[in-house]
Amino acid sequence: MMNVAVVGTGYVGLVAGACFAELGHHVVCVDNNQAKLAILRAGRLPIYEPGLEEMVPKNASRGRLRFTDDLATAVRECEVVFIAVGTPPGEDGSADLRHVMAVASQIGKNINGFKVVVVKSTVPIGTCDKVRAMIAPETTHPFAVVSNPEFLREGVAVGDFMHPDRIVVGADSEQAVEVMRRLYRPLTAEGAKFLVMDVRSSEMTKYASNAMLAARISFMNEISALCETLGADIENVRRGVGADDRIGPAFLKAGVGYGGSCFPKDVAALLRTAQDAGVTLGILDATVSANDRQKSRLVTMVQEDFGGDLRGLKFGVWGLAFKSQTDDMREAPSVPIIEGLLAAGATISAYDPAARETAGAIFGDRITFANDPYQAIEGADAVLLVTEWAEFTAPDWERVWALMRERRDGETRPARALYDGRNLWEPRDLIAQGFSYRGIGRR
Ligand code: NAD
Repeated sequence: MMNVAVVGTGYVGLVAGACFAELGHHVVCVDNNQAKLAILRAGRLPIYEPGLEEMVPKNASRGRLRFTDDLATAVRECEVVFIAVGTPPGEDGSADLRHVMAVASQIGKNINGFKVVVVKSTVPIGTCDKVRAMIAPETTHPFAVVSNPEFLREGVAVGDFMHPDRIVVGADSEQAVEVMRRLYRPLTAEGAKFLVMDVRSSEMTKYASNAMLAARISFMNEISALCETLGADIENVRRGVGADDRIGPAFLKAGVGYGGSCFPKDVAALLRTAQDAGVTLGILDATVSANDRQKSRLVTMVQEDFGGDLRGLKFGVWGLAFKSQTDDMREAPSVPIIEGLLAAGATISAYDPAARETAGAIFGDRITFANDPYQAIEGADAVLLVTEWAEFTAPDWERVWALMRERRDGETRPARALYDGRNLWEPRDLIAQGFSYRGIGRR
């Protein structure tokens, strides 16, 4: 058992804190957002993340998981202090390190014995050195700064944390590595890979991983456009390509473009780092521009079919969150898609099982929020599937048919049009039923 402080109780900090508690450590989660702390102390969760709703109250009631705004006491009580605060994009694309450095300064002021300060936030190469330089003048006690990037995915974060592909630890002191080994022993005992390396390589590993995944998605999205033009089906191509052991099947799905709190921001930050270093990252430049194009693909399809003026037309949108199993709307492709349709005069009714509140903060009353998928498509001219929630995979198509608007006399525009932004549906079946169907790179 170790005493661990986790500063920043967001998607990463809360999951890490709850999981470390579940693994038997005593964890104090620190945040400066009083509203968040009040929710957590009341036994509720400020975010939607499957599995946390049992894990947090269970460990809190066992006395292994506490929530506080008192960083000073947390630092004094704990041997390991994680920094898991946000690193949002600054105006020039670089990661904004204000929160990280503010926390580092406070940690420095309260060190009272050997501490391992672990940077879990995704930070540019060289940040751990800056954190060390911030703390050093504040204390005479020994300390180590360790890089331990997080690879969890929102929506399956608890499973990812408990069964990681690898734990990456960047450290320049054996003593710090030993502390990290003890901390993660419950996971390495179950077979998790523990990779020790120098600090900068660890920081770079996180960015290179996200950049590689983003590039794979953009690559397949570009290939899907070519499939569409040449009469191939990207879903068949994906199966064929993904079956190659050297490539593997993950992150090859064509869709509406990547979003979320990590890929866009981390790719931008890495590009900024490269620019500052005078190094060209051409593949990443292209990854970003392909993704920007991809986000407008569904709207382009709609306008090809319905024309540029969408006034008087109603569109049902299924899914708002940037992916399924989360309420996170950061950089969600649904935003440019809906904004594009609204700008063309369309009326939008949307349904998302988790992101109603977070999306409400973005769209306000400019769109209607439905209580279920079917309500969202009442009288709709078209349905746009934007997020791959499981409940959209096999809807009651007869009901969908009955709810959507009939073609008006003499109309040439498609009726009962389905735009499958995640390639969830089987085109042939739907076309046979009389729907008009367009997916991403389907034939
Ligand atoms: P988040 O915005 O959900 O949470 C950050 C938390 O830090 C907030 O609760 C905020 O109130 C708190 N905070 C900010 N400044 C603080 C301060 N001075 N003192 C105490 N608390 C403070 O962010 P997140 O999604 O958890 O991401 C955190 C970091 O982890 C980022 O660097 C991100 O890039 C990285 N990351 C995120 C994910 C993900 O899926 N979300 C995955 C891997 C890595």
